[in-house]
Amino acid sequence: MSTFSAIRIDKADKGTSAAYTDFDEADLMDGDVMVRIAYSTVNYKDGLAITGKSPVVRRFPMIPGIDFSGVVESSTNPSFKPGDSVVMTGWGMGETHLGAYAQKARVKGDWLVPLPPGLSLSDAMTVGTAGFTAMLCLQALEAHGCKPSDGPAIVTGAAGGVGSVAVSLLKKAGWHVIASTGRPEEADYLKAIGADEIIDRKELSEPGRPLGKERWAAGIDTVGSHTLANLIAQTKYAGAVAACGLAQGMDLPSSVAPFILRGVCLLGIDSVMCPKDKRITAWARLARDLDKSALAAMTTHVPFNEVMNVARDIVEGKVRGRVVVDIG
Ligand code: NDP
Repeated sequence: MSTFSAIRIDKADKGTSAAYTDFDEADLMDGDVMVRIAYSTVNYKDGLAITGKSPVVRRFPMIPGIDFSGVVESSTNPSFKPGDSVVMTGWGMGETHLGAYAQKARVKGDWLVPLPPGLSLSDAMTVGTAGFTAMLCLQALEAHGCKPSDGPAIVTGAAGGVGSVAVSLLKKAGWHVIASTGRPEEADYLKAIGADEIIDRKELSEPGRPLGKERWAAGIDTVGSHTLANLIAQTKYAGAVAACGLAQGMDLPSSVAPFILRGVCLLGIDSVMCPKDKRITAWARLARDLDKSALAAMTTHVPFNEVMNVARDIVEGKVRGRVVVDIG
C-alpha cells in the first residue's frame, strides 16, 4: 500500500466531517496524469466544502481542494511527461473528482494547463481559481467592448480572493477602480493593490431602486443578491457587469429596467468548465499582466495543517486576498 497525506470528507450523521488522513494511492480516481502537488489555495468554495455549509461535495469520500500547482510524476497522456510543471483549476476537482488537499492527485491531462512562463508554482497558486476567474471577468468585459475611457470600474468583495486580483488586473488594464468592501480597515491594502476609491459595501447590499444614478461603466461582482442588483442598476448606459460569485446570496432581486432602458449587459462567468483554449489564453495574460508586488501583497502562505482553520475563516469573510497552501 502506498499512502499520502490528504484531507478527507466523509458523510456524517449530521452533514459531513473533514479530517486529515493517510489516503491510499490505489483509491485515487481515474486519470492519465499523476501529479505531485506543490501548492494549493483556500477558495470560498473550499471553505463551503470543508465546513459543509453548502452541498459542494457530490461524491464521498472526497478530498477537497479545487486547485493546485505541481509537477507531473507519471503520465500516459502524450501532452505531459514526468517533470512538467502544471496548473489545475476546476473541472469538478474537490466536488466530484478527488481534489487538491493532498500530496498527490490523478487527473485527466486535458484538464491541466502547463505552468505559464513567468510564473513560479507558488505564483500560480497565488493566482489560483480566484485570480483565473478575475481574469475571465476582465476578458468578458473587454470582449463586450468595455474600455477604461468609458468610466470607472467597480469590484465588489474587493478584499476577498477574486476581488483582490480583479482590482489589480483592472488597474493594470488602465481602469479607474472603485473597490467595494465591508472592511474599511483594508483601505490601505486595497489602494496598494490598485484601488483608486473605496466605498462601503453597505451602499450596495440593501434593497435598492430598479434604476439609480449612473456611477460605473463596468463591474466585477463576487457577491450576488442585492449587491449585484444595485451594481446593475447603477451601471452607465451600454455598460456591463461580469457576475461570478454569491458571497451575499444566490438570489438576484433585480428588474429588467437596466437592460431595456440602458442596454446594460450581465455577463455570467464560470471558471469550472471553462474550455482549455480560453484557460491557456487567460493564464498567459495573468503571467504577463499581474503585478508581482501586488501579488505578494495579497498573499498569505499557510502550511497544509492550517487549511481547516482558514476554511472556517473564509466562509466568515475573514480572509484577506489569497491564501496559498504549501503542500509539498
Ligand atoms: P472570498 O471569501 O475570498 O471573498 C469574498 C468576499 O466577499 C469577502 O472577502 C467579502 O469582501 C465579501 N463578502 C463576504 N460576505 C459578504 C456579504 N454577506 N455581503 C457582501 N459581501 C460579502 O471568496 P473568493 O474570492 O474565493 O470567492 C468569491 C465568490 O466568487 C464566491 O461566491 C465564490 O463562490 C465565487 N467564485 C466563483 C467562481 C466561478 O467560476 N464563477 C470561481 C471562484 C469563485 P469584503 O470584506 O471586501 O467586503
